[in-house]
Amino acid sequence: MATLGETICPYCGVGCRLRLEGTTAKINLVRGVENAPANLGRICAKGAQLGPTIHTSDRLTSPLLRRSRNDAFQAADWDTALSHVAEIFTDILHTHGPEAIAFYGSGQLDSETAYLVTKLFKGHLGCNNTDSNSRLCMAAAAAGYRTSLGSDGPPGCYDDIELADVILVIGSNMAEAHPVTFDRIRASKKARPEQKLIVVDPRRTLTAEAADIHLAVTPGSDIALLTALGRILLLHLNAADPSFISGHTAGFEDYRRFLVRQDLSELCAATGVAESQLFKLARLIAGARGFLSFYCMGLNQSTVGMWKNNSLINLHLLTGQIGKPGAGPFSLTGQPNAMGGRETGLLSHQLPGYRIVEDSEDRRCVEQFWGRTQGSIRPQPGLTAVEMFRALEKGQLKAIWITATNPAVSLPDLHQVRRALSRARLVVVQDAYHPTETTRLADVLLPAAQWGEKEWTSTNSERMVSFSPKLFDPPGQALPDWEILARFAQKLGLPGFRYESRDQVWDEFIPLTAGRPCDMTGMTSARLRQEVSLQWPCPTADHPGTKRRYLDRRFPTPDGKARFIVCTHRDPRELPDHEFPFVLTTGRLYAHWHTLTRTAKSDKLVRREPGPFAEINPADAEKLSLKEGDLVQISSRRGTVRLPARISTRVKPGMVFVPFHWGDLFGEGNAANYLTISAIGRVAKQPELKFCAVALEKVPARPTGERATSIGEGTIPLPLSFGSSASRQA
Ligand code: SF4
Repeated sequence: MATLGETICPYCGVGCRLRLEGTTAKINLVRGVENAPANLGRICAKGAQLGPTIHTSDRLTSPLLRRSRNDAFQAADWDTALSHVAEIFTDILHTHGPEAIAFYGSGQLDSETAYLVTKLFKGHLGCNNTDSNSRLCMAAAAAGYRTSLGSDGPPGCYDDIELADVILVIGSNMAEAHPVTFDRIRASKKARPEQKLIVVDPRRTLTAEAADIHLAVTPGSDIALLTALGRILLLHLNAADPSFISGHTAGFEDYRRFLVRQDLSELCAATGVAESQLFKLARLIAGARGFLSFYCMGLNQSTVGMWKNNSLINLHLLTGQIGKPGAGPFSLTGQPNAMGGRETGLLSHQLPGYRIVEDSEDRRCVEQFWGRTQGSIRPQPGLTAVEMFRALEKGQLKAIWITATNPAVSLPDLHQVRRALSRARLVVVQDAYHPTETTRLADVLLPAAQWGEKEWTSTNSERMVSFSPKLFDPPGQALPDWEILARFAQKLGLPGFRYESRDQVWDEFIPLTAGRPCDMTGMTSARLRQEVSLQWPCPTADHPGTKRRYLDRRFPTPDGKARFIVCTHRDPRELPDHEFPFVLTTGRLYAHWHTLTRTAKSDKLVRREPGPFAEINPADAEKLSLKEGDLVQISSRRGTVRLPARISTRVKPGMVFVPFHWGDLFGEGNAANYLTISAIGRVAKQPELKFCAVALEKVPARPTGERATSIGEGTIPLPLSFGSSASRQA
């Protein structure tokens, strides 16, 4: 079979390199590339099923405009569409100032685009309101690294898996959300049966089923658990590493005093885990030569997500388990280029090269680089994801440009999101597909080329920067995202946005990382085209890249020391009560990716997980007289949905789990995020998508047959039982 070429998978942050076989018109087979460091030949079902997601009938092939949301879209050429958007943006900027516009992107955006967004909005328009759906995934992880270690970015690499004695997976269902990395853990355990896998998760997930020890903690109790472990390690097992602590950390005495004050039985009660289990886990950590931890949304999607990260990193500092092979805290990223967005300054508080807008020296340096006058970049962080949609609803924001994401499914409190978008004067959505739940709420649609249709650069969870070539042409007038942004900037009459190629954008960006923790100066376009993947820091053209950071045990803080950070347990923002007595937690499934814009196009994936469900413990089901497949109404203070019940001991009594993938295209008003709370953390501003209070009630089954849901531009026939493929007809 003819090989079309290789690409980084456009789905999760594992960053698998895939080989496509077939023709430009039809992909017949997708395989993992054997010598690719991130996946070593492995692939999961989502990557393998990329073929059906490319040449589909719902691809956006030209810009579409409409006068009002009640009108149908009309096709336009690029010049007309971008002139129209530029005119309205200019008017809003003159009338209301740069605080009235915003850009909301995602970790699906390549680094070239994320860099140009930062340059355009923060550097030239004086607007820091750029954020991305990475805010929903790993803002707390980025903040945790920065406050504890002095810099964002994971210390270790995937090769640490085989070298660790104990692997702790906390708040991550890796087996489903990062399956290839989890397969590597399984293979490592098989080769070294003495290696221990501990999983901390309120649900008995597929990941938990593979563990030597599964701690089914009470939802929201991670800080109590990590504090209890710290206390046991320090005071009961004498497992602290005094020379690491004295030589390479600060704040230990405060942390020690904090641990001494803690009551172990109270902490255990908060976690719902027996003291003996915690001692067992602590003994394993204490005895490990290499202690490696993986974590993801379960720690991050919380109003105290940053503190959860700090609490975990405290354990690594306490035991000296960082800055050596087989050890360290390893945050998994959900999207293929969430890391690249952080490096290029896409989040509202960031600037390129892990700089931040509050730092005057950081601003000055970037302003100078872009040839901007001092003071061009605002010193205050812009609006974050949830804040943007609140500001839209209040009328403070007038226009939003949304790219490569589907906030009308993925943000919390979707009724609020819909109200917010309905109040906007201008909603621009740049996407590969239409309809999505968000494109149908837009005024202007801009067609984007997707992964195989352009050259692009991304950084995976282990800091591996990869170049992906163009393999086939985009449909119609679709353009790479970076080119759309560059053309728009030119329409605004701004200097510095004339690029001939993606190479020019990348090569302009990387000098901004010189001398920074994420130094990529040595990764020129020419080199990446040859060597394909390199791990930062990589400061010179002959530097081989860096597998592990902090091997010298110096951290990028003013005194070179990592910080212990004292964090006390805080309850989630909305606790169950008599009216809403259950805890709702949301999450992902193996077969699907985010909001289904791609994975729903694969019959194989849809057959595996055909529709949404509510996972309920048998004891609760009995009390509610629910049987498998019965329709259950789930209500929170924000909304109500109806889903078939899946009765399972995977969840504890008092909990209900709903996957968040399915949006309005598959059942109007029935998405999990109509229920979730938009409460955000104080520093990381990440919403608490893992915890809110809900009520459950059995409702009569709908009559058999199909219900058609009108979605304006298209109609989706919905199988009422969710038992068969939810086909999409655009
Ligand atoms: Fe793609 Fe992630 Fe699956 Fe790898 S593990 S093939 S990156 S979805």
